[in-house]
Amino acid sequence: MRVAAGVDLGGTAINYTFVDEESHFLIDGLFEHPAKSKEGPAVCLQQIADGLALAASRAGVTLADVAMVGLDTPGPASSDGVLSARGSTNFVHADWAGFDIRHGLEEKLGRRVVYLNDGNAAALWGHVAIFGPATDATSIAAIIGTGLGGGVITPGNAVVRGRRGFGGELGHVLVPYQSIAGIEGMRPECNCLRTGDLESLCSLTAIERTILPYFLARDANHELNRSATPHEAAKRVRGLAERGDALCRRVFQVQAHALGLFFDEMVNVFDPDAFIVGGGAIETGEAFQQWFLDEIRAGMPTQRREQQDIPIHIMPNGDCAGARGAAIEALGRLRTAG
Ligand SMILES: [Zn+2]
Repeated sequence: MRVAAGVDLGGTAINYTFVDEESHFLIDGLFEHPAKSKEGPAVCLQQIADGLALAASRAGVTLADVAMVGLDTPGPASSDGVLSARGSTNFVHADWAGFDIRHGLEEKLGRRVVYLNDGNAAALWGHVAIFGPATDATSIAAIIGTGLGGGVITPGNAVVRGRRGFGGELGHVLVPYQSIAGIEGMRPECNCLRTGDLESLCSLTAIERTILPYFLARDANHELNRSATPHEAAKRVRGLAERGDALCRRVFQVQAHALGLFFDEMVNVFDPDAFIVGGGAIETGEAFQQWFLDEIRAGMPTQRREQQDIPIHIMPNGDCAGARGAAIEALGRLRTAG
């Protein structure tokens, strides 16, 4: 038996899966192990290896069956898994700076390892979940979390990685946000120093920093004005929006309309087969998800008749998306390598 493993290294947890050569996943749902990434690469790589052995026994395979490993992590990193020399939110230990995590894991496991950033891995999973493993479709996925990640998947399940690993960094694409109704005077600023890119309007950070303060300043009696910190307030927006709070719905409507403007740009670049929306923002009940998708569509400028019906999906099995996408990438390499 030959299988490919998917290893999704997050800030606090590692999530594992395995896929066989018939593209069947061998673990339902999550198999997690603590990441200990704050303790640096030596400790974290050992955690990955230990967790892989536990996950393999859960999946009913042996480590000898694992012929290829797909690894995904948050960025920034090169397309081949060299983490940014300037460090990142998830890899704060000094030894991570400029660390070649793909190669490091390859040495630790004695297996070939392929690398994707977490947004691209999730996008690949969403693509295959919707279109099947053998498809010539094109799709674009936006993952709304603390920031906004995602990916562009082209025919043959090819991930657009880009020259330096920044392919599919959708969050830093500028959108014409001034056309969104009811946010006159808002200045959405991003960590990347752009004003009005997708992440500056469509992320948890955007809620906390820009959108929520804008609306709370115009509604002195709203309960979130009594929150201890802006971060606490921002974390409550999704729940309140789902329960129908008008101000919090407006916050999500602005995000959806920004996404609609972005998707419109992508319609004209790729004429894709589908858009996929994932991430913590839409880990809600189905009614709210459908409302959000409808608002994205409402935020898109009028489409030409042939493109009006472009599907917009919610990411299936969102929790497992990174690990499953990484496993699919590894399986693809395994097939190519023979
Ligand atoms: Zn940006």
